[in-house]
Amino acid sequence: MKLHEYQGKELLRRFGVNVQDGKVAYTPDEVRTIANEYGQPVVVKAQVYVGGRGKAGGVKFSPTPDKAFENAEKILGMDIKGLTVNKVLVTKAVDIDAGTEYYVGMIVDRNVQSFTLMACAEGGMEIEELAAERPEAIIRHRVDPVTGLRPYEAREVALKAGFKGNLNKIADIMVKMARAALELDANLVEINPLFIDEKGNPLALDTKFDVDDNALFRHPDLAALRESEADHPLEIEAAKYGFAYVKLDGSTGVLGNGAGIVMTTLDVVNRVGGKPANFLDIGGGARADIVYNAVKLVLKDSDVKSIFINIFGGITRADEVAKGVIQALQEGILTKPVRMRIAGTAEDEAKALLAEVNSDMIKMYPDMFQAAEAAVEEAKK
Ligand code: GDP
Ligand code: MN
Repeated sequence: MKLHEYQGKELLRRFGVNVQDGKVAYTPDEVRTIANEYGQPVVVKAQVYVGGRGKAGGVKFSPTPDKAFENAEKILGMDIKGLTVNKVLVTKAVDIDAGTEYYVGMIVDRNVQSFTLMACAEGGMEIEELAAERPEAIIRHRVDPVTGLRPYEAREVALKAGFKGNLNKIADIMVKMARAALELDANLVEINPLFIDEKGNPLALDTKFDVDDNALFRHPDLAALRESEADHPLEIEAAKYGFAYVKLDGSTGVLGNGAGIVMTTLDVVNRVGGKPANFLDIGGGARADIVYNAVKLVLKDSDVKSIFINIFGGITRADEVAKGVIQALQEGILTKPVRMRIAGTAEDEAKALLAEVNSDMIKMYPDMFQAAEAAVEEAKK
């Protein structure tokens, strides 16, 4: 579960990390009031669950309360990577040119079966970009979850990364960030930028926080921070039907009966040169109404240009699957072509039903690759 910057900063503050004073606002008027109260330049920052807000125009330095009001008018309601900004964080600004911006982060790293501490002297940029462009600039260090990050380890990493400033204080922030990650069961905690002022003192200007969903039962206070807007709206709708649905970035909708077959289907779509638009597992034994709802759900994603249904009929009957798709067609909601591979139980019945309907919108293939190619071809049209 992702947290907003203001929530992550509050958590870091609890662990003793130095952060700027800040308050959340929902209207430009509230922003002006806060700026007035602080009586110094502020930064108005969009609170949405994505990085790169600065580049997208969602972070604005505001020297006066009127400027803060103006900037809030621009940022509130803005769209950043598909998310609408409905609140901003107003923080006391620092003089960024008078200091340095670094990066520090803790991630759960499957490669080392533990946490990895990362540090880089080139802060501000997104770590994914840094990792792609200058991987050698990022210092990595495995952190033992039992002992946590020890101060001497933090100092060593800070030195290797080329950090300048008060090394003890910087190491102290890293240790505290690591403690927050470990104690709160985070998948990821980043401080980027970690700002070092002229006197060498560190301050967390921005943070990213992602808490392990499976550990939320241990942190009821964090679980309460969940906002449904954090999830993709279709994922919420899918949860109502009990579907496992994950939105992806391609154009071929994928639907199958079981997590294994859906994973395979995603691979096959890629193999034949397509890109899956989603993962959707309708589970075992699905009847026509469930298939109908699943097709309807996938079609709500405007990125979807075709649908590939891959079913191996065991307890799921092929004719029930066909009926669900045919119902969608007859009700006029099937706006994109469906290409299916259904094999197994009641395969012949399914074929007969589709032959009766005889529509170009629904075609059935005996082979998974043929069906995938047909679906991908439709998506490319
Ligand atoms: P992100 O783009 O989503 O990572 O948002 P950040 O909070 O990291 O802000 C982006 C950039 O805004 C930072 O890299 C800084 O350059 C700048 N910024 C953030 N806080 C301040 C501040 O207090 N003062 C000034 N002058 N710039 C800031
Ligand atoms: Mn940042």
